[in-house]
Amino acid sequence: MSMRVYEYAKKIGSSSKEILKRLSDAGFDVANHMTVLTEEDVEFLNQTYTNKEKKARNGVLSNDSGQADALATEGGSAKEGQGAIEIILEPMTVADIASQLEVPATEIILLLLKWGIVAPKNYLLDEAIVSRIAQHFGVCVKKPERKVEQKREVRAILDSAKIEKRMPVIVVLGHVDHGKTTLLDFIRKTRVAAREKGGITQHLGAYHVETKHGGIVFLDTPGHEAFSKIRSRGVKAADIAILVVAADDGIMPQTIEAIKFAKEMSLPIIVAVNKVDKANATRLEVVKRQLAEQDLLPEEWGGQTIVMPVSAKVGTGIDELLDMVDLQAQLLELKADISSPAAGYVLESKLEKGRGPVATIILQQGYLRIGDTFIAGDATGKVSSLLDSHNKSLREVGPSQPVQVATFSELPNAGDYFEVVPKGQLRKARPQPKAVSKPGFKDKAINLIIKADTNSSKEALEDAIKKLSKKIDHTDFHIVASGVGDIGERDVQLASHTGSSIVGLHVKATNALHAAQKEGVSISLFDIIYKLLEDLERRAEGAREIKMVDKKVGEGVIRKVFDIKKVGIIAGCYVKDGIFSKNGKMVVWRNKQKIGSGSITSLQREGKNIKEVHAGFECAFMADGLLDFAVDDRIECYISVPENKP
Ligand code: GDP
Repeated sequence: MSMRVYEYAKKIGSSSKEILKRLSDAGFDVANHMTVLTEEDVEFLNQTYTNKEKKARNGVLSNDSGQADALATEGGSAKEGQGAIEIILEPMTVADIASQLEVPATEIILLLLKWGIVAPKNYLLDEAIVSRIAQHFGVCVKKPERKVEQKREVRAILDSAKIEKRMPVIVVLGHVDHGKTTLLDFIRKTRVAAREKGGITQHLGAYHVETKHGGIVFLDTPGHEAFSKIRSRGVKAADIAILVVAADDGIMPQTIEAIKFAKEMSLPIIVAVNKVDKANATRLEVVKRQLAEQDLLPEEWGGQTIVMPVSAKVGTGIDELLDMVDLQAQLLELKADISSPAAGYVLESKLEKGRGPVATIILQQGYLRIGDTFIAGDATGKVSSLLDSHNKSLREVGPSQPVQVATFSELPNAGDYFEVVPKGQLRKARPQPKAVSKPGFKDKAINLIIKADTNSSKEALEDAIKKLSKKIDHTDFHIVASGVGDIGERDVQLASHTGSSIVGLHVKATNALHAAQKEGVSISLFDIIYKLLEDLERRAEGAREIKMVDKKVGEGVIRKVFDIKKVGIIAGCYVKDGIFSKNGKMVVWRNKQKIGSGSITSLQREGKNIKEVHAGFECAFMADGLLDFAVDDRIECYISVPENKP
């Protein structure tokens, strides 16, 4: 009987991740947890998971937990000592240790087999087993000094943070009428109404449902504004996208938009081919072909994309879809630091009768409690009530769970950063309307974009920087974005728009240097985490006297000029590039000649006061200092940012 990776994992009480690692270490080509195992795969796994090893699996398979534990009772007699050789005690592959010991790799492979470990040449051995092999060959091992120090430091940082698993946040995307609302309704009704009297009673723009695997949060707001705003800070509003494609219609223009959007946000995509109750069975294959054309090669065809046939109307396949969401979430290992002060993002806000301005927020870290004081955009407030989507009052709420918070001093905007601050800082933190400050970023902060070679070094670095911020009381490091991989032009663009500098750990910046030079963005690269932290500490010291400079963040063109009695001159402008900020300064150009400058005093879009307008949108603004606008004038928008240190 054919079996998928996750089914095999379940059968032997292991995780898909572990099985995938085992297979790929042994050179098997397996895409993901949904991949159907071949007979050969299963035979290999069965051999690997002998009864003895199953028992010791936790000790044997995890590189961190010490493979040697499982071997403690075994081992062979030590060979004659190879006195002249000494090896550094660090993780290495079978091939590496063989070459260091000057023995054929097959000898190591056979030795490991005798110890119950199936390890091909490129299998990474942890330190415990490296030491055990060395002992077997009578060879001395030496600890790498710097590494120990570095490891201890990262460990200490990680130990003091309290990292816990959090619920996945899902966004449902797709073409209009393909069944997004019906799918969300079906999940809401079947998962919630049965358990909670009254079902979902509060429209929060997001809700949390319980499945047999645990909680899942669905965003049920289109919320594109919130999304792009949150994204402009380099943070994701969701973890996974479900792409709904109606089987009868297939891929339509908005489906392609949605794919682009999910890819830009680096969201894993699970495809739900909907309306299978009414579509001809052959349509599923047609949709798969269309998906393949969009670079979403279905897993059954050797790709990575999970495609699930469903009917949101009658409920076919929904359980399986939720199983897939859960598996994907497990692979992402979603975690949040619950020991940090509560911080997250505003999804929606509204005025409620008798309660004033309220907002739905989702925390990314920490716990929010009744009585906490906070800031969100221009608003401040004190938590007087926390309501979940069942209208249930909560005393506290942690990461990922959507909650409606009251009371705000004014309506925050969707996408605003929300953070708890001590009461004393509330007045200080409250932005003064006339003050020139960076749009949406902390004042007195050093904005950073961080890049690292792996997810775990990225996480270690983020945590270390947060700890450093706490240690230094006069300056805050604000991580605008973080990512894995080499530094590229997009990072430089983001740094330029947000007044950030870029720091990299074990990465290169070859493709970004030209752009960085052009944009005046500083890039610093490090190979050792504590060197990077020392550098940041020095910068914080230097930032005591921050020198502010004007930085160009956007450009637009005047489309219309209104002269309104008692109000004044209003410029109708199309933003071509970057952003326009309500706290910005502007410089006006006409026919390549600078004709004046001033400060923006109000910024509106579609009649509403807003703080930023992004490229591709029209806006209207008023400014002091200069009133003589004309159609086709070119407007540059500047904000004040700390001068970039080289
Ligand atoms: P949205 O615009 O993507 O939110 O789409 P809706 O959820 O509003 O669905 C559009 C139409 O398709 C409605 O008339 C739904 O009843 C219908 N619909 C949605 N899902 C299914 C399904 O699985 N089967 C059938 N037959 N109709 C569906």
